[in-house]
Amino acid sequence: MIEMYGVSKVYPGGLTALKDINLKISRGEFVFIVGPSGAGKSTFIKLLFREELPTKGQIFFNGKNITRMRNRDIPFLRRRIGIVFQDFRLLPEKTAYENVAFAMEVVEASGKEIRKKVPQVLERVGLSHKADAKPSELSGGEQQRVALARALVNEPDVLVADEPTGNLDPDTSWDIMKLLSDINKRGTTVVVATHARELVNAMRKRVLQLDKGRLVRDEERGVYSNEA
Ligand code: ADP
Ligand code: ADP
Repeated sequence: MIEMYGVSKVYPGGLTALKDINLKISRGEFVFIVGPSGAGKSTFIKLLFREELPTKGQIFFNGKNITRMRNRDIPFLRRRIGIVFQDFRLLPEKTAYENVAFAMEVVEASGKEIRKKVPQVLERVGLSHKADAKPSELSGGEQQRVALARALVNEPDVLVADEPTGNLDPDTSWDIMKLLSDINKRGTTVVVATHARELVNAMRKRVLQLDKGRLVRDEERGVYSNEA
């Protein structure tokens, strides 16, 4: 589903954020991208949804070369990718329901579809009872659930999360990771960039480790780090 061949990213100014990355992520996988701050995790994610272009190399998504994609085709790529961030990025004046519905309005779903899908996806993330709450009335974990519902409502091929538990306490982080795992078990490919070492070690999923922009490890059922 995702393939990278010789991908490097050098930012203007000369900093090499990613260096010669080669990898494949198949449909249905759950993959952690780990590494210290500055390792290139966010850059990796930005390349996936074409917020950034690689300096060198090719990236394929569902067999399409997204590095050569025309600008007018980028929205179609982004519809296939659901994204959540550390800081949730919800619309503060909208309720949980409205935040999720808005993602469907943007892709011009019908009112009927929206009224059917939004309650289903809120149920799936365990937030039906908070549908009418605004973000300021929700805990951090609940806000991330809304963000997950919004990312899932258009049925993306892959769910991408950039430090999804970075603003959450340990128990809430666990709940969100378990939810990501459930989402994956129901068929969505999941890619999570994180430096939550204990969570990664406990989940035993595929681990891609970045270090100063290089892919230094790729392990099935891996841990955060092989160091003691
Ligand atoms: P991580 O998510 O692992 O912390 P990033 O991908 O954010 O890593 O950053 C990798 C490196 O690229 C860092 O040294 C960072 O400072 C640099 N970087 C990230 N974004 C930019 C940018 N827009 N311009 C210049 N340098 C950047
Ligand atoms: P957490 O410990 O996960 O951060 P909180 O203590 O913030 O959780 O919230 C606990 C519960 O109280 C949650 O169900 C949340 O929705 C609710 N809550 C928090 N702040 C408000 C608020 N300002 N108005 C209404 N409900 C709130």
